[in-house]
Amino acid sequence: MPANPILRLKSVRKTFGHFTALHGIDLAIEEGEFFTIVGPSGSGKSTIIRLLVGMDELTSGEIWLRDKRIDQIPANLRPTCMVFQSLALFPHMSVGQNIEFPLKLRKIDPAKRKARAIELLQLLHLPASYYDKRVTECSGGERQRVALARALAFDPEILFFDEPLSALDYRLRKSLEKELKDLHARTGKTFVYITHSLEEALVMSDRIAIMKSGRFEQISDADEIYSKPVSRFVAEFMGEVN
Ligand code: ADP
Ligand code: MG
Repeated sequence: MPANPILRLKSVRKTFGHFTALHGIDLAIEEGEFFTIVGPSGSGKSTIIRLLVGMDELTSGEIWLRDKRIDQIPANLRPTCMVFQSLALFPHMSVGQNIEFPLKLRKIDPAKRKARAIELLQLLHLPASYYDKRVTECSGGERQRVALARALAFDPEILFFDEPLSALDYRLRKSLEKELKDLHARTGKTFVYITHSLEEALVMSDRIAIMKSGRFEQISDADEIYSKPVSRFVAEFMGEVN
């Protein structure tokens, strides 16, 4: 359990009508950590992230960012940013315009915006010449990098990823896994990552939470999940990796 968590969930419950998607979960995430939530489809992973970024409201419980309660704060005022599964770029805009979008919202002047966009392109290993490229001319992997660059342009304290690689083919997924891990190391930001692939989680994460039906089954270091699964469910989930 982290001593000074950047993010804390206290007894977070979420219901949809009579259905309970989250059964009062507690979680503490350390600053700078690569934290992954893994679990089968329908276990409540996306619901957690939607609550954290403010896309949906809690039924009960609290969310804290350091010493500030944020669950009542509107999404656009939270220092968090989401990278989606679907590559939510603006197709009619250039790569540069996409990356600069958050900076434009903040009324940063055009020269500074461009300089920052080019820095971010380089951080994501894309050539500066991509600044003027149409999004529609980029490959799937390139678009995912542009989406990442745009997320970083918001300069969020915490980045959330909801299965960002699941639509990509195996080879691309493997290389982006490595890049994401590397990006995490270079930015020093807190990454909260969701996947239904334990293999992906084990490759990238500092700690992993395994979800089952709206509850955490186990939260531990990546290697401990592997060597000491707490339940048959975790062990069987692990078995799918091999
Ligand atoms: P995961 O991301 O792990 O696949 P979700 O968090 O999307 O799972 O969903 C968890 C459960 O909550 C699922 O059973 C899903 O059908 C249900 N659920 C999610 N969103 C809604 C909604 N808006 N209305 C009703 N049920 C929902
Ligand atoms: Mg989901």
